[in-house]
Amino acid sequence: MEVVESIERIRERVLQLRAQGRRVGLVPTMGALHAGHLSLIEASRRECTATVATIFVNPAQFGPSEDFSRYPRTIDQDLAELRQAGADLVFVPRSEEIYPPGFSTFVEPSSVAAPWEGSCRPGHFRGVATVVLKLFQILPAHLGFFGQKDFQQALVIRRMVADLNLPIAIRVCPIVREADGLALSSRNRYLSQDDRHRATAISRGLRAARNRFLAGEARAELLRETVLSELRQSGITQPEYVAVADAETLAEVTEATAATVILVAARVGQTRLIDNLVLGDSNDA
Ligand code: AMP
Repeated sequence: MEVVESIERIRERVLQLRAQGRRVGLVPTMGALHAGHLSLIEASRRECTATVATIFVNPAQFGPSEDFSRYPRTIDQDLAELRQAGADLVFVPRSEEIYPPGFSTFVEPSSVAAPWEGSCRPGHFRGVATVVLKLFQILPAHLGFFGQKDFQQALVIRRMVADLNLPIAIRVCPIVREADGLALSSRNRYLSQDDRHRATAISRGLRAARNRFLAGEARAELLRETVLSELRQSGITQPEYVAVADAETLAEVTEATAATVILVAARVGQTRLIDNLVLGDSNDA
């Protein structure tokens, strides 16, 4: 596994792989890797003949009061895990490589970026879309692998790829969870033992809502209340949002269908967690 820091070198290596007829999969990450990230590497290895991971904590997607400077950085362990998982190449650029002095062009993401995460984290998806477009340009891969954990992010990227005619196919992979349902996240390591326990209310709430839906309840407000009630019981009284929305447009719905997603963002202690569940997806949570 080769670790590359420069844009010039990674592009040359990816173009070489393509010239050899390899099908190249790209897995962008911010590091602090866990089994969720590694599932994307596995998905790429199943479908591609070369897998390139990137590790870059993208300053452009963090707000001024967010956790950019204290975001976990565990590069040595990350590289060991990527090697073990069978990645062929890892791109680990320094910030100035991606954002040199004078950098000033950004992607304006589609309307699907506006609600939920978009309104809680102004500028977040602009930063995400910009860095992902740059990575697609720097590493011309055939397929890009993303996690459903960041449901809205995956929609924003899919829309960008369609709208800007980017020559890459996007795969969105299922959420990897702990045995008790908590969605794996690099930020879970911030949770105190007590908060870690309380955090399970999020996936429990999502499951409870899906069970009510499967039992015949389609009223979105009641499904939403099911999640809120589960959160309240764990002392999570002010989630940032619990949205019952169309899984394509993210517009709120009043009647749920199998193509409805429930999106949750909540602070547990100091840690901001997100999770989601598509009601018709019986494999998740
Ligand atoms: P991040 O390092 O948080 O930017 O995540 C990198 C990629 O891993 C994104 O496409 C995420 O959606 C995905 N990811 C993060 N957590 C999970 C998870 N628990 N299951 C599946 N994919 C995940």
